[in-house]
Formats: sequence, structure tokens, C-alpha cells
Amino acid sequence: MPSAEDILWATFHCARHGMILVRLDQRLVKVNSKFCALLGYGESELLERALTDLTNPEDTALAQKLFDNLSIGKMKRFEVVLRLTSKAGESLLAHLTANPVMDAGGKPGLCAIAVEDVTEKDDTEEKLRIAAKIYESSEEGVVVTDREGIIQFVNPAFTTITGYSPEEALGRNPSILRSGRHTQEFYELMWGSLRAEGRWEGEIWNRNKNGEAYLERLRITSIKDTAGRTTHYTAIFSDLTQIRDTEEKIRYQAYHDILTGLPNRSLYFDRVRQAITRAQRAGKKLGVMFLDLDDFKKINDRLNHSAGDLMLQGVATRLVSCLRETDTVARIGGDEFTILLEDVDGEKQSSVVAEKIMRSISEPYFYNSEELFVSTSLGISIYPADGATVEDLIKNADIAMYHAKDLGKNNYQFFTESMNQKVVKRLEAETNLRKALDKDEMFACYQPKVDLKTGRIVGMEALIRWRRDGLDIVLPNEFIPLAEETGLILGLDEWMLGKACTFNRRIHEGGDEEFSVAVNVAVNVSAKAFESPDLVKSIQDVVALSGLPPRFIELEVTESSIIRNMDQAVMVLSRLRELGFNISMDDFGTGYSSLSYLARLPINILKIDRSFIVDLAANPKSRSIAKAIVSMSHEMDIKVVAEGVENTEQLEYLRGIDCDEVQGYLFCRPLLENDMEVLIKSRVQYQSS
Ligand code: C2E
Ligand code: MG
Ligand code: MG
Repeated sequence: MPSAEDILWATFHCARHGMILVRLDQRLVKVNSKFCALLGYGESELLERALTDLTNPEDTALAQKLFDNLSIGKMKRFEVVLRLTSKAGESLLAHLTANPVMDAGGKPGLCAIAVEDVTEKDDTEEKLRIAAKIYESSEEGVVVTDREGIIQFVNPAFTTITGYSPEEALGRNPSILRSGRHTQEFYELMWGSLRAEGRWEGEIWNRNKNGEAYLERLRITSIKDTAGRTTHYTAIFSDLTQIRDTEEKIRYQAYHDILTGLPNRSLYFDRVRQAITRAQRAGKKLGVMFLDLDDFKKINDRLNHSAGDLMLQGVATRLVSCLRETDTVARIGGDEFTILLEDVDGEKQSSVVAEKIMRSISEPYFYNSEELFVSTSLGISIYPADGATVEDLIKNADIAMYHAKDLGKNNYQFFTESMNQKVVKRLEAETNLRKALDKDEMFACYQPKVDLKTGRIVGMEALIRWRRDGLDIVLPNEFIPLAEETGLILGLDEWMLGKACTFNRRIHEGGDEEFSVAVNVAVNVSAKAFESPDLVKSIQDVVALSGLPPRFIELEVTESSIIRNMDQAVMVLSRLRELGFNISMDDFGTGYSSLSYLARLPINILKIDRSFIVDLAANPKSRSIAKAIVSMSHEMDIKVVAEGVENTEQLEYLRGIDCDEVQGYLFCRPLLENDMEVLIKSRVQYQSS
């Protein structure tokens, strides 16, 4: 009979796990063949080596601590998972179960350790851990259960959807989520498919912690180890109720204006289309309104956008309150609203609504305890009289709205065919104007400016003319506004500047010394030009090309263009003055005409407007104002030119108050280039005092 010790050692050597016997200093006293095989060492290579030699450096401290605890009796035994390194340098995860062997004095002298290779096993768990990490930020809920269906892991989305925190869920069965809406058979089928195919997918009603049922899309997959045994199940689900809400939201945003919550353009068009179909069938009328707030841009610029936004929201609310529930109001652009009135008898009812709207909009709006006001211009078209399609109805309501603006804003207009004619004409005019420069239909006239003291021509103003279709001559007042609106004015002004400078240069070269210094040329600069960021550069380029020095050039600007953006204008004009140009304030007396702001402006010439000059004879007030203008200007070193002088009475008065130059029919009407040249070269001297 072998001794107990023999039996023990035999068992030790043939154990399925690695077995080692170590001293408390961790040196190996005995190793079995399984342990040698695990690490790839021969027995002799291992004996008397420290276990710490074989553990991953990151784990040695942990191992040391455990042995220390064991030797001082703090621990009776321990289990730990450590990383060991094989002879070939490969890392393996080892599950160590350590039991002390007591010496005769009852103290731990040796330690028997069973070593199980768990590298493979732990791989699955590691994979699960990684997967769980990935699902940490997922919007889908994730649950991992063990083979028995006990919850091991949930992600944050799980908590969001179900209301159960990880603490509440871990260790429990997912059946806590059962809604009771499915039959037992449903669950049996689900498990059947999981067992057979390793996966199940479908929609399922579950119940959250508050007891509310929700529909989720669920995907369950079983996770198997290398031997093909199921170790875990993962379930990934998304809350369909929430997704449906999001879809709803996206759909809402596609058809509504976010700021005001009103229908947007596409929804409005849809509604009008449907209304047209209904009205057509029933033989009824519809009213389509187009509103644009008056000068909304100014409010927006003066205050800030949040004030503007608040006002738009306020307008939206008021519009809704002016209408019946069957009507539609939509916001289709910045400050543009459209309305659909269903089932109206035509103009009469629409007028009533329009008046109600105008009144309501004009009530004050409050912003930071400030009262703000706005008015609106409104155009109306009626189905079927003014159009059969939504596009036509809106276009015509828009035309009517423009007409309301033309009539001074803050009013409403019904569309009429004649308005349409006007629009068509305007479009035609625009096309013609566009082509005018190419077709060489523009030409320049020049009107002399006469020095009041010497009676000599000291300058001339270039004035544009349009010979349309080679026939009638169109004066600037007729086409400049359109040119400004369309931006075409920039091209016209540039052309004029080049033309005038070249002409003046020719006069300078052909004339004698006296004229070459005396005659200036003035060109008008449109307000629109100040909106362009490279105004200075483009003027410089054109002038440089002509070869005329800037000191012979006067740029006539109007008050309105400067007032619009004073700081910017002052900067641009100062730059032009630095470059040697003369800056002339045109039409003084028609706009704000504030003498005080003249001081801020870098101008050196001021032109008193014709309307003032006309008034001189009849109105003593005009006379004193004219006098004040001249004397104040002189104090600021500003030269004064009187425009539109038509008779000697005016002339004499201007002379009396020491005005510098005059321009007007009394001396000369605007002349063609050649005639002007002849006149200058004739050295004409008008009668002086
Ligand atoms: P403005 O710059 O004030 O030009 C003076 C206008 O008064 C000219 O009209 C001129 O013909 C007219 N005028 C001169 N003397 C008399 C007079 O004694 N009696 C009367 N009743 N009128 C007189 P015009 O040429 O029709 O130009 C009108 C306006 O068009 C100009 O006023 C100017 O603002 C603008 N304009 C003319 N040419 C251009 C241009 O090339 N570019 C730009 N942006 N505007 C231009
Ligand atoms: Mg002018
Ligand atoms: Mg003028």
C-alpha cells in the first residue's frame, strides 16, 4: 500500500490544473507537469524561482500583497487572477487558488496553489466588456445577461428608456420589463429562435419602471464560448415611441417656420392647392394675402435681432388671432407673411380682415420696456378672378402688396390687371436698361457752373441721358430709381465717371493754362455705391485710366446716402479727400439738412437744392436760411454752389449773400459734349455784377 504522501504527490502530478507548492517568500518548491506545460518550462528550470519572476510586472505588487497577508494571518486563503508570462514570452491569465499549509507550530510555512489557465474564458468577458463600452454612448438600450438570463450589464440608454438604474437592474431578470401584452407563446417562439439560430429580432411591448408600456425594436443575440456553449445573451433595443416622436418632429420642422411656429412656404402652398380644389368644386372664392412689414429692416438694424425676432413672433400671434380657424397664416420669408382666407365672398370680407390685421399689427410691441411700432403693407388676390394656381395667386397678391408700398406703405390693395401691366412694364424697362450701355444708348450732358464773381465757367456737372431705342431721350429721374433698385446704377456711374474724366482731360490738354486749372468736372455718385466695399478702389481705377488728376474732379453725393451709414460714409469720403478728390454735398435742403452734421463730414462743396432757390423770391424764411447756409459753410471752408438758378432775381440775391458758384438754366442748359467744349473754349464770360 503506497503511503499517503505518495498518493498525494501522484495526485499532485496528474492534476488537470497546474499545481505548485511555494514558500511564503514565493519561491517554488514543487511544480506539477501541468504547470510546467502551461508555462513551457522544464521542472528544473522552475524550482527555486520566485513566483514573482513569472508574473507580469504590473501584477507582482498584487501577488506580493496577498502573500504578505497570508503570512501574517490576515487572510486564510486567497483567489486571484494574475497574468503570468510563459518561457516563450506569451501572456496567460491564470486563476490562482491558494491554500496555506501549516507547520507544526500552526503557522503557515508553505502554500499550495492551484493554477487554472483562464485566458480563453476571460477573452469572452473582455469582448463583452469592450462591447459594453461601445454601447455606453449608444442611443439604443443594451442589456447583457448571463446564460441564466440574469442581468450583468446595462448601458445608460437602458436606464433612459426603462427608468431602471443599473443598481435596480443588475442581478435581476429582464422579465421585470414584461408588459403583459404578449402571450406565453410569443415568448416561447422567441426562445425557440434564440436556441436554434442564436438570435431573435422583432417588436415587443415592454413596460417601464413607471408602468407605462412602450413599443421597442429588440434584437437578442446569444454569445457562445469556443466550445459552442451559450455564455451570455445581449439584447439591443430602441424605443420606437421615441423614434416616432422624432420623425414627427422632423416632419413638423419641414413644414413649419421655427421662429413663429407658423406653417412655412411649402405647407402654405399645399394648403392653398387643396383649398383651390375644394373651392373649385363648390364654386367658392378664396382670398390670398401677401404682407410685408414696413421698414422692418430699420427696426432690426436699430435694435438687435432678438428684438426683431420678438416682433415677428408678436406679429404671428396677432395674425392668427385675426383669423378664423379655417384660415391659414404662414411665414414665407424674413418679414413676409401670407394668408389664405377660405370661403370668402370676395373683396368685402377680405377688406374687413385686412383692416382688422392692419389695426392689430399697428398696436405697440414691447421690448425691454421700450414701445416699438411697425406697420404693414398688404396685397390681396382673389381666386378665381386673379389666378387659378397658387403661384399666380401669390404672385398677384405680391404685386398688389408692392403697389401698397408704392402708395406710401401702411395700407392694403387688391390686385388689378393694371398693376400687372405696370409690373410687366417695369420688367421690360429693366431689361432695356440692362442692355442700354451695351447698345451705346447712354450719353453725357454737361451743365456749366459759373463763378459768381468773375462770370467765368469754373466747372461743369456731368448728367446722364438715355436715348432709348435710338428714339426718345429719357431723363435720369425716370430711370435712375430703377437703376438703383436693380444695382445697374453702379455700372452707369462708373461709365459716367470715366466718360466725364476723359472729356475733361481732353479740354485740359486743348485749352491754355488758365482753363487747365480752372475747369472741374462734377459727377453724381449714387447712394447705392456706398454699399459697395470697394467704392474707393473702383473710383481710383477709373480716374487713373483717364489720366485726369483728382483735384479736377468733384464727386456729388446726397445726404441720404451718407445718413444711411454715417460712420462708413465718413471713412470713405475722408479717404477720397486724401486722394485729392473734391466732395460735394448735392441737393442740400431737401433731406435732413442739418447744418450741425456738416461739420462732421469731409466735404468741401455744398450745393443748395433748386427747390430752395425757387423759394427765394416768395419766402423770406428761405432767404434767411440760404444766407445762414452760405455764411456757416464759409466758416467751415466749404464752397457754396446754387443749383437751378433760373432768373436774375435769384442770381442777385445769391450774389448778395456771397454765394460762390451758380448752375442753372439762366446761364445754360445741359449741353452735349461737343457744344460744351466749344462753349468753354469760347472763354465766355457771363455778366458779373
Ligand atoms: P442733380 O445732381 O441735382 O442735377 C441737377 C439737375 O437739375 C439736372 O437734372 C439738371 O438738368 C437740372 N437743372 C439744372 N439747372 C436747372 C434749372 O435752372 N431749372 C431746372 N428746372 N432744372 C435744372 P437732370 O439732368 O434731369 O438730373 C436729375 C438728377 O438725376 C440729378 O440731380 C442727379 O441726382 C441724377 N443724375 C443725373 N445724372 C446722373 C448720373 O450720372 N449718376 C447718378 N447717380 N445720378 C445722376
Ligand atoms: Mg448733382
Ligand atoms: Mg442737385
